[in-house]
Amino acid sequence: MSEKPQAPRGTYDVLPEDDAGRRAVEAAARSILGGAGYRRIETPIFEHTELFARGVGASTDIVQKEMYTFKDAGDRSLTLRPEGTAPVMRSYHEHGMHKLPQPAKLWYLGPFFRQEKPQAGRYREFWQVGIEAIGSSDPAVDAEAITLLHALATELGVTGVRLRLASLGTPETRAEYRELLVAHLRAHEDQLSEEVRARIDLNPLRAFDADHPGTREVMRAAPLLIDHLTDEDREHFAEVRARLDAAEIAYEIDPTLVRGIDYYTRTLFELTSDALGAQSGVGGGGRYDRLAETLGLPDTPGIGWAAGVERLLLAGDHRPHPEPVCDLYVAGTDVAAFTLTAEARRAGLNVQLELAGRSRKGQLKQADRSGARYVAIFGDEGINLKDMESGEQETVAADAVVARVLRGRHLS
Ligand code: AMP
Repeated sequence: MSEKPQAPRGTYDVLPEDDAGRRAVEAAARSILGGAGYRRIETPIFEHTELFARGVGASTDIVQKEMYTFKDAGDRSLTLRPEGTAPVMRSYHEHGMHKLPQPAKLWYLGPFFRQEKPQAGRYREFWQVGIEAIGSSDPAVDAEAITLLHALATELGVTGVRLRLASLGTPETRAEYRELLVAHLRAHEDQLSEEVRARIDLNPLRAFDADHPGTREVMRAAPLLIDHLTDEDREHFAEVRARLDAAEIAYEIDPTLVRGIDYYTRTLFELTSDALGAQSGVGGGGRYDRLAETLGLPDTPGIGWAAGVERLLLAGDHRPHPEPVCDLYVAGTDVAAFTLTAEARRAGLNVQLELAGRSRKGQLKQADRSGARYVAIFGDEGINLKDMESGEQETVAADAVVARVLRGRHLS
């Protein structure tokens, strides 16, 4: 016997009982982000592989080992999107959004794909809600973006929130700093984990992320990027911080903050929740003033973040929305029952139709389970309309049922 089909590892089904939570995330995003003038954008689920290879960075884990890449019938290499920023930057230029008032303020919500090792809170297909503000390098945009991530998490009841903040400076500053860091790592090579040692030249910053005790010891004495920023970058960072202070958003400066994407410049941030386990990241992002150039597009500054929808739900305490009220349960399966259902729905009622050929008793039980206000039972002399609240029954002509239910709804 063949095995039963199962969902692929690292994916999950959104079951009917999960729908309310996901709607709560969407509603909160629409209200908070839309309220701040961000407008929704959705880009394709797959893009040319090149977009991510260049945009996310060849040395990143995402590009090196996590992308779902395939060839289409025309032998073009396509990739299921692992992140949203490079696609939104592409779309901004493809659709001439630079001609709109700047910055273009965009938000998105949808599925993303990374071939990571599945564990609690980490999936291979997951959803992100995110924003991108493209076309301004003003520190006010950075500060506003961070407050919006904070507001979204707060609105969804995320507890134990920690906001970490850093500045990465410009790529030039980073290049100089990188040499210092590589020199430090080389000087202590024998104490480092094998993985870090193998990647000293490729991605020395990742050493700050390591759990390995020897590596951690070496990193305690490592030079910090924040001590090597240019005056302009230091000033930008101070302006961002002044605004977060004014908005009374609590944050910690974390000079070791590293994110697995190459394109960040200047402001970098991450919001975590202690309600989550090892995968404590709720959302994060940063400024990416060099991304457009990397993609071969005109120089365009931008900043954005993405938050994991599953993590927001795991760490939050959203109140479920009530299910739609069932106004009428039509207890019949014949054509007359179907006609009544169609008519009542056209009149704007929420109607559920008997679909299982139950006995009269079974129908009433199912109507009760559905929370129906009225049940229409087909009899010889017309339709027996039962008010499930009062228990009263009356015989009503078929063409009068809808009006009767509507009246009852207005009275209650
Ligand atoms: P990133 O795009 O890596 O900056 O991630 C932003 C946020 O997306 C993280 O803080 C997580 O909440 C969420 N996220 C990233 N990768 C995954 C994953 N594999 N499964 C679930 N959520 C994820």
